[in-house]
Amino acid sequence: MTQDMDALQSAAGGVGAPPGAGSNAWAEARSLIDGWRGGINIAHEALDRHVISGHGGDLAIRWLGKSGERRDLTYADLQAEANRFANVLADHGLKPGDSVFAMAGRVPGLYAAALGTLKAGLVFTPLFSAFGPEPVRTRMEIGSANVLVTTEAIYRRKIAPWAQEIRTLKLILILGDDAPEGCVALGPAMASASPKFETVATRPEDPALIHFTSGTTGKPKGAVHVHNAVLYHAFSGRKALGLGPGVTYWCTADPGWVTGTSYGIISPLVNRARMLIDEAEFDLERWYSTVQDEKVEVWYSAPTAIRMMMREGAEVARPYDFSSLRFLASVGEPLNPEAVTWSAGVFGQPFHDNWWQTETGGIMIANCPGMEVKPGSMGKPLPGVVAGIVEREDGTLRELGPGEIGELALRPGWPSMMRAYLNEQARYDKCFVDGWYLSGDLAMRDADGYFWFVGRADDLIKTSGHLIGPFEVESALIEHDAVAEAGVIGVPDETAGEIVKAYVTLNPGYTPSEALERDIRGHARKKLGPAVAPRDVVFRKTLPKTRSGKIMRRLLKARELGLPEGDISTLETDET
Ligand code: ATP
Ligand code: MG
Repeated sequence: MTQDMDALQSAAGGVGAPPGAGSNAWAEARSLIDGWRGGINIAHEALDRHVISGHGGDLAIRWLGKSGERRDLTYADLQAEANRFANVLADHGLKPGDSVFAMAGRVPGLYAAALGTLKAGLVFTPLFSAFGPEPVRTRMEIGSANVLVTTEAIYRRKIAPWAQEIRTLKLILILGDDAPEGCVALGPAMASASPKFETVATRPEDPALIHFTSGTTGKPKGAVHVHNAVLYHAFSGRKALGLGPGVTYWCTADPGWVTGTSYGIISPLVNRARMLIDEAEFDLERWYSTVQDEKVEVWYSAPTAIRMMMREGAEVARPYDFSSLRFLASVGEPLNPEAVTWSAGVFGQPFHDNWWQTETGGIMIANCPGMEVKPGSMGKPLPGVVAGIVEREDGTLRELGPGEIGELALRPGWPSMMRAYLNEQARYDKCFVDGWYLSGDLAMRDADGYFWFVGRADDLIKTSGHLIGPFEVESALIEHDAVAEAGVIGVPDETAGEIVKAYVTLNPGYTPSEALERDIRGHARKKLGPAVAPRDVVFRKTLPKTRSGKIMRRLLKARELGLPEGDISTLETDET
């Protein structure tokens, strides 16, 4: 693993920032972290630094268990747990650079494992706990896993049958007091390990985390991130989310995805916030009571959850007191303008959209606190981030002006940029062209510098000479009273090239009928004009989504056309 990582690091070295890009901002970002003994270590910034500076008694995590349990951990408590975990790794002969995978729900042990791994200089890869056996196995093989941290139930059900075949795997740690044969129970191992551990002085470019992408457009890629990313986690958490010491913060994303780690572990801890962790899955009334009872100030969630709130209606929200909320943000998918205005009405604050990717490691474009929100826009690049809209022209890129649609690109050089795709050098290299990092998303910048998401490059629909982004059509559809969610694709057509087809789910109280279909199409025609409005609207009970909540348009299309479904390892079980 260590060798692979060295190769990856040097491969990543070819991409340089244009002189001066971001330098002031990165100097500011640098000033937010400690850095120490000539190195940078994410866990040092997240824990040790606060304990050293006398804040060990501050609340780091308030954990809410599925069945009503609560546990508070101060920065000193969490540091001690992470230290014990780091000692367990060291006691088993694991070395910096080795690879630790974790697959467990949102339980305190997972957070201690993540931070302990980073303290010990090993590389942490979180996997979503609901993945089936095959996706776990593939990812552990690609990532040459040396250690797996999991629960007994997950181990027995999903991992035991093939664990022996992962040749790199040396240690399986089971959360709790008992472990099946061949595994080590973490409870007793932690209890007998020392709560003291000298954090490894990792170098800024040492690999720290591997995150697999959501698999929305195809086979998930393993993006490698380094310890230096912590500069950007510190900086962007302040700028884009308003995190700071003592701020009560709730990120609803699971650490199995990049949001749940960058902004569900690292950024809040580095900024010394009070972090709320809810083990339970989405439950509307539980969420509303949590915001109210825990006096959440900053709330970071995703469009899929917001649309579920909207589906249940503003009435359900009315009995709750949301006056603690100061800032609401959303990421992962385009945030429909309807969701922005709805949330402003219900919570007294709109959800602020921001845009980034597993590859960028942190928020790149955002509606930051204090900025005027244009509903439907992703906002503006963060200070230091240079974003552009580009078009390919004979192997080079041409930057487009305001109002023009092209690929959203970034100037490389921000600290949390991925350094490699695991085992996929060619795919990684293809992301960098002509001094830009290409995101694969299409967008437009307006004259005020706000960026507007159009669609994934693969999802663009070409119909009778028009280029249509699905987001625009979906946003218009969900403004219809009956429509809860919409997924829009292009279907081949002899005369038009492609025609626009929509799949929708309905709000409670509505049932599919021809009349309703006509009405929805009529509404879309009025909003969008006949060239852009969907020709066909199909009712569905659910839309195919990734487990991180993103609509999988490629699957709607493959099923429509009877084509192979491709990699569906991140697909949430759906009804078609
Ligand atoms: P894969 O790369 O495997 O297909 P993915 O792109 O969904 O999966 P992520 O890195 O989790 O994996 O998601 C990043 C993508 O999510 C972005 O490229 C963009 O398409 C979409 N996205 C994220 N935030 C926003 C946003 N605010 N508005 C629109 N799209 C967004
Ligand atoms: Mg992607």
